[in-house]
Amino acid sequence: MENTILPLITASNQSDQVNLFIGTGNNLSTQDNTRVCSLTIKRLHKVMATGATPIIVNPSHPSHIQSIFNEFKQSNYNITIIEREFQLSDLTTLGRSITSGVVDRVFLNLPSTTLLHEIYSQCIKLRIPINTYQQPQYSTFNIIPTYTDPHGSGLQISVTTNGKGYILDERIKRDIVNNLPSNISSVISNMGNLRDQLIHTPLSKLGYGLDNDPWEDSHKFNQLIIDADIKTRRSRWLSQIMEYYPLSQLDKITLEDLESLTQDTSLQSSSPSPITQTGKISLVGSGPGSISMLTLGALHEIKTADLILSDKLVPQQILDLIPTTTRVIIAKKFPGNAENAQNEFLNLGIEALQQGLHIVRLKQGDPYIFGRGGEEYLWFKERGFTPIVIPGISSSLASTVVAQIPATQRGIADQVLICTGTGRKGALPDVPEFNTHRTTVFLMALHRANILQETLLNKKWDPEVPLAIVERASCPDQRVTRTKLKYLWDVVQEIGSRPPGLIVIGDSVLQLTDIQEFNDISKYHMDEGFHDIDVDLTTLCK
Ligand code: SAH
Repeated sequence: MENTILPLITASNQSDQVNLFIGTGNNLSTQDNTRVCSLTIKRLHKVMATGATPIIVNPSHPSHIQSIFNEFKQSNYNITIIEREFQLSDLTTLGRSITSGVVDRVFLNLPSTTLLHEIYSQCIKLRIPINTYQQPQYSTFNIIPTYTDPHGSGLQISVTTNGKGYILDERIKRDIVNNLPSNISSVISNMGNLRDQLIHTPLSKLGYGLDNDPWEDSHKFNQLIIDADIKTRRSRWLSQIMEYYPLSQLDKITLEDLESLTQDTSLQSSSPSPITQTGKISLVGSGPGSISMLTLGALHEIKTADLILSDKLVPQQILDLIPTTTRVIIAKKFPGNAENAQNEFLNLGIEALQQGLHIVRLKQGDPYIFGRGGEEYLWFKERGFTPIVIPGISSSLASTVVAQIPATQRGIADQVLICTGTGRKGALPDVPEFNTHRTTVFLMALHRANILQETLLNKKWDPEVPLAIVERASCPDQRVTRTKLKYLWDVVQEIGSRPPGLIVIGDSVLQLTDIQEFNDISKYHMDEGFHDIDVDLTTLCK
């Protein structure tokens, strides 16, 4: 039992179900009485909050009846207390008529242990879930600390350490809840409302098509979407917002915002505007995610900008560094809208520059590695505002490091190649020849890993070559999955996606690990999490 992990997989409907409390705890000492009965009271509260009906049989002490009465007398709750010894037949007679009298759940907390075994066996036979106070061997379910959003958004967070301690569970739960954005209730409610509205608004009104957006990483999101599949398009599009937008800003998104994406945001007149002001623009790379990988130059720009135009992939921890007084606009680059979002940005940028403002165009990783940095540089330059460009650590080279992959190593790899899995209009670009002494990194490739795998194998790449899928590199929820080229698509389908992610291929992938061979049964090996250094900016800037 000790090492068993109990599955935490269901949330069940308790409405009107009969929860039978057998006993209300130890009645030997007054002190214990109070404590144990308060546990019963706590559980009664929980049970009633789920809509279930509690029945108490065999209260352990008359004072318990009084305490329960006092606790609930103000509310409308209806608690039946049966003051007599428990009988086994109670299990099959006190329940609802729809279950032929069988109760739906049992909480056992009798002072004596004589009946435990019998009650437990009977519950097992009748498939009644049972929880016996502090007796895991007589329990088939646990109550776990659960946070329920008091503002009714529907958010619930339950925590278990599987028997390592209720206090610890509680503590972890509190920590998780404290770390949520303070507006989490409105975030959830807003997303729910938006979802309802989107699903009920005719697509013709919204008009979001699906072209092949290179920023799209999820293989599920991008798979098998055909023009007629309206529902999939809409929900996938909303998923994009939920996945990429900073959590705390999701409460501000409106249906109008979404609709504005379809409006014409084509570039302003192509003739350069007169240079009347001294606005300046910098194209800044934000690195792959962790603050520890942000350059001092980038930090300086973020802290001194008047307006920040940020790509949607720039992670929350970087956006959190932006002073609250600085205006930030995050790209609405979603499938079907990539071009519009880009144009909207450039237009906003040029307007602000003409007003003399300091604009920062914040980009994930390095601005010139698949970031459209070059195009934007030229666009602004032609209009009289030559950008300063601050390099960033590219995810393509940080991912290898955080995944313990030496991109080059003597005798293993003497070159590194950075490619994309998504070319213009979504087609797969020309893929390179296989080279045993190379580490190849494919960005924007996971959502079409099947096509990439097939193309590489057709080009005579070694199916046995090691491969790593590195997702959310340098972020707390980083995930590194090692496998072989021949298993790539199987593994992607099995593990799903955690965007953004990329693929690293080459013998270097296994050099620093002692991971054994992969085979048809054990196709991959996964490591989760990123151990970052704790960067304290206040101390650093003293
Ligand atoms: N300019 C960026 C790349 C932009 S293209 C850079 O230099 O990193 C976007 C792609 O980068 C994503 O599809 C994904 O393949 C990759 N990517 C970006 N951030 C990543 C991260 N933290 N972990 C893994 N891949 C990442």
